[in-house]
Amino acid sequence: MSKRFFLCGIMQESNSFNPTPATDADFAYTRREGEAVLRGEVGGAAQGMVDTLLSRGYDVTAGVVMKAKSGGPVAHEVVDEFLKRNLALLRGNTWDGVVVSLHGAMLTDVSEDACGDILTAIREAVGETAVVTASCDLHANVTERMLCAADHICGYQTYPHLDFYEVGCRAATLAARAVEGESLVTVRAAVPMMAPAHAYTTNTPALKAVMDRGHALVSGGDIADFSVFQVQPWLNVAKLASTVLVTAATEEQAAAVASELVNAAFALREVLQGEPLMTIEEVIQTARANTTGKPVVLVDSADSPNAGATGDTATVIEALLPYRDELYAAASVDDVPAVEKAFALGVGGKGDFTLGATVAPKLSTPVTVPDCTVVSLHSGEFRMQGPASRGEWRDMGKTAVLAAGKLRIVVNSHSCYQGDVQFYRGFGVEPMLQDLIAVKACTSLRAGYEPISAAICNAATPGAAGVVLKALPFDRLPKPFYPFEEITESDITPPRRHR
Ligand SMILES: [Zn+2]
Repeated sequence: MSKRFFLCGIMQESNSFNPTPATDADFAYTRREGEAVLRGEVGGAAQGMVDTLLSRGYDVTAGVVMKAKSGGPVAHEVVDEFLKRNLALLRGNTWDGVVVSLHGAMLTDVSEDACGDILTAIREAVGETAVVTASCDLHANVTERMLCAADHICGYQTYPHLDFYEVGCRAATLAARAVEGESLVTVRAAVPMMAPAHAYTTNTPALKAVMDRGHALVSGGDIADFSVFQVQPWLNVAKLASTVLVTAATEEQAAAVASELVNAAFALREVLQGEPLMTIEEVIQTARANTTGKPVVLVDSADSPNAGATGDTATVIEALLPYRDELYAAASVDDVPAVEKAFALGVGGKGDFTLGATVAPKLSTPVTVPDCTVVSLHSGEFRMQGPASRGEWRDMGKTAVLAAGKLRIVVNSHSCYQGDVQFYRGFGVEPMLQDLIAVKACTSLRAGYEPISAAICNAATPGAAGVVLKALPFDRLPKPFYPFEEITESDITPPRRHR
């Protein structure tokens, strides 16, 4: 008889410093269940899982698969309902394997380890003999509790993330191999460190060398899988670590490789912090001196909705105001009252606008922009250019474009991913015609903006995804935790299995 698998998934990256909880409505757009999942409507890791399991001829049942954009911790009733639906399907049946698509850094308003809660509940429902595997983001906080429940966990191996689909294939393949009787053991090693997400990519030479080493060991057959997690830095929780997971035939083989990789990650702790950031004013002066004919990009990653920030800081707009008659510049802000005012004025309407600090008033201050003209009004939808999410639609609610001299301000109702060139282009603001373009995104903007810009400048700005980690109000982290305290090799948690 063909082996029976169950598949489900919930993904959201939580930011402890964003006060707006993620609710049911944030997941509704992507929620799929049962046949719709198997028909290929989910994309990403869950799709990789579906395709892998079906291609092997297994009997696959799909529960709920859903995701939400990054944001504040998820309302716990969303996770309760997700579990209720899936556990109802899981209980009373016998399963050979369960695969779960997770982010790994999801909090709820009552739990600092929502992914641990989910995997534990699934394990309790299916018993000890079923194989349970999960996929996670590279920025996951992989807790010991998650690995007490799951046999194997795989994380993205790229940042910017390009392997959404592939990580699902890896997690499902490990489940299939284990179900078919192959001996596989996953070990976890941990180091108490974080790095600001703007400061590195997996193309950073030192980190690339670590990833290349892991890939070589997989292709050589020494190990079955590896993941090097750099925990996302806006989790203010008591159990936090960057982790290395290695899966191999025996615990000894896995542990030998995990030791090597976790020591390499520890050694990179300073490099991954990156260079000090430019001030906003320094970026503006770079744009003023630029003669290439291409725009200078000001990266406002601290307020990146993709990193769970609120998108409502107007600090860059304030800094651009003295240059409103000199520089062609574009910036954006989330501000519902300002959108309503613009719609009330109508296209061509004029007025003073107070912008910013409407969602997270503790993190920035509002800015008054005098003598604005409403240039255009929109429903807020735009289509992404990619490459990672090419063709996908985003919706940021009612949106207005304001002009203040040569400055264009895109004012939207709720934040969405802004690192795509179409974020501005879709509202009639052409990035290539600006001297300076401010983008509330992080590393992911490079794919779209590098080819068309003179320079990409990371600026020190306020926000829930602030890159100056010591400026954020962390009060829950374990101690010592780098970069807040220095750490030594003795602070590394050596590799061990948890099941
Ligand atoms: Zn990530």
